[in-house]
Amino acid sequence: MARVTRFAPSPTGPLHLGHAFAALTAAGRADRFLLRIEDIDQTRCRPDYEQAIYDDLHWLGLTWEPPVLRQSTRSTAYQIDLDRLTALGLTYHCTCTRADIRAALSAPQGPAAPAYPGTCRTAQHSHGALRLNMAKATAPLPDLSFTESGQTLRFNPRQLADDIILHRANEGFAYHLAVVIDDAFQGITEVTRGADLQSVTPLHVTLQHLLGLPTPQYHHHRLILDDQGRRLAKRDDARAMSKYRAEGATPADIRHMVGL
Ligand code: GLU
Ligand code: ZN
Repeated sequence: MARVTRFAPSPTGPLHLGHAFAALTAAGRADRFLLRIEDIDQTRCRPDYEQAIYDDLHWLGLTWEPPVLRQSTRSTAYQIDLDRLTALGLTYHCTCTRADIRAALSAPQGPAAPAYPGTCRTAQHSHGALRLNMAKATAPLPDLSFTESGQTLRFNPRQLADDIILHRANEGFAYHLAVVIDDAFQGITEVTRGADLQSVTPLHVTLQHLLGLPTPQYHHHRLILDDQGRRLAKRDDARAMSKYRAEGATPADIRHMVGL
């Protein structure tokens, strides 16, 4: 079967070496390589960053099969699947602010976003963010599995604790919903992405089951770290591909820098 992979950057900043590695890895593993612009959060995305993505990828020597899928054009599709979850009684409105949620959690929290304590689950609000009632959604599910780098991983979806947000009042559809719908829509057979997203893969596989979507294979690749051993982020403009380009680096230099 032809392997279809994708690179799915958000146009919220310049592409850095971590993105170069992700794109080269996904393209290198693909029979067909697709591009998706994850621009659902319109408050943070900019057209010049989107254009820079195309320029940087072309400069690296990458080509992708058209059309580019832009998430900002996909609201109708996301809404249909959100409505299906609502019709199944699996969503509820939540009016909590981030401060409300912090206050409702007595245990000290680590750096990761804390799980939602369920404050609004039975409140019957008619506005606010839409959350997934995870306990209700996963109660009838069997154990699930997916393939990670060729290995079958099994998990119990009933152990997923967080009532994730599917739609925010101001910012719109959430990443977790959009990503599973679009991977299916684009016919992705292997989700090739960074190890930072490995921990949310059971959630994505669970959403695929709830929505009747196929589960692709997964390949989470290593992350490119800075000198302090931290993952590169959008703030690391110093590592922007455009900066290396301006300094005269070649695509081969970039491959070398990321260990390819
Ligand atoms: N848009 C995400 C990012 O820029 C990637 C999401 C994914 O590959 O599932 O990191
Ligand atoms: Zn709430």
